Amino acid sequence: MKGILSSWNGKKIIVVGMGRSGVAAGEWLLGQKAEVTMFDESTDLAVAEVGLRIKARGAKVITGQKSVAGKGFDRAILSPGISPDRPIILELKAAGVPMLGELELGAQACLCPVVAVTGTNGKSTTTELITQILQAAGKRAVACGNYGKPLCEVAPLSRDLDWAVAEVSSFQLETIETFRPRIAVYLNLTPDHLDRYSTMESYAATKARIFENQKAEDVAVINKGLVLPKGQARKIVFTVEATGAEYTLQEGWLCAHGEKVMRQDATKLRGEHNAENLLAALAVADAMEISREVVKKVFSSYQALPHRCEVVAVRAGVTWINDSKATNLDAMERAVSGLVGPVILIAGGKDKGFDVRTSRPALEGKVRAVFLLGEMAEKMEKAWSGGMPCRRVQDLGEAVRRAAEMAREGENVLLSPGCSSYDQFKNFEERGEKYRQCVIALPQEEKKP
Ligand code: ADP
Repeated sequence: MKGILSSWNGKKIIVVGMGRSGVAAGEWLLGQKAEVTMFDESTDLAVAEVGLRIKARGAKVITGQKSVAGKGFDRAILSPGISPDRPIILELKAAGVPMLGELELGAQACLCPVVAVTGTNGKSTTTELITQILQAAGKRAVACGNYGKPLCEVAPLSRDLDWAVAEVSSFQLETIETFRPRIAVYLNLTPDHLDRYSTMESYAATKARIFENQKAEDVAVINKGLVLPKGQARKIVFTVEATGAEYTLQEGWLCAHGEKVMRQDATKLRGEHNAENLLAALAVADAMEISREVVKKVFSSYQALPHRCEVVAVRAGVTWINDSKATNLDAMERAVSGLVGPVILIAGGKDKGFDVRTSRPALEGKVRAVFLLGEMAEKMEKAWSGGMPCRRVQDLGEAVRRAAEMAREGENVLLSPGCSSYDQFKNFEERGEKYRQCVIALPQEEKKP
């Protein structure tokens, strides 16, 4: 096990990336009396401030495009966002320094069992559902990983926890070694991050690593149609079809082993994609032997997270929905198909190399018009304009104004970009917030049906 140290005491460790995860890793290592060097290739103000704070705790800090050659590190800890082709990673690799991800380090340090959730879409929603179920059942649980606190921040508190519920991205799974979730959930796999993975096979293989260290007493919860893990874990399958798995969706009912548990429309989560998330959370709750009463209570009160098919306003019978977190085509298609009534779609953003032609059948017939933004606008217009009117717009403000002019009572205006936001915004939150502000600022006139 090349990356693992039984004691970090006195070891020379470089932590790459000085965001929240990197800092949490650095602080945990300092607590273990490791000799910590923090590295970030950026020299911006935020990094400089973090650098000063962690320096005061005893770390060395290197920022900017500097070489770390010849420094003789025993191990490197990588933040989740660091791309494997950055110069620092290539340099550490060439020097033969073993690398671990922050998730692996946090899991090694964690004293409570971990439930881990991965998949292309639905991770945050399912992580939050599971955490709320555990808390409602009186267990001490926190959501962490990619969502909420980094695992290294949770680990020091884990003696007092019953469960850590970790959202896990494929990037984090690239750098695990012993990571062994007691319960692992694999929600779905659709194209994304094709800028990082050259093939869908390599993306799928990385996601499947969530199961690789599981043992017979562990549980694997998997969507039907994904490749079942080879490991010994007990496998539980869910599907939004009516049959063919332990957890199913039958005429609107969430079912467990054929038994009707609850209607999906008794929850606030709409669409088949959310049925997947609910079924996965139900399967986890059953594996933990949490009562159905608790699960139903949480399911009926749970509100969609901000920026995930979140209703921001209903104006003159038009529903305005913010799904800014839809950063790939599958999330966008599922948001569209989950809505009742015609849709005016606002899409587009950074070009991640998707083949947008594949989305046309899912939009046709349901989407009445599309307003297109950003780098992807031209490609989307070319691919979809035969099936529905497509208009390119300058910015989100113009998209909202023009959608407002067009929308009629009973229709939905949906921001579900199908692309990440980095061409025009800092992140998906900023994009979603901008949309919300533009919608709220619309003049409040009555619309004719
Ligand atoms: P993640 O953390 O994996 O990005 P989120 O729960 O934050 O997942 O949702 C991200 C986007 O994916 C949102 O647009 C949401 O509506 C959509 N989504 C949620 N669950 C699913 C699912 N099971 N399948 C497809 N899309 C989903």
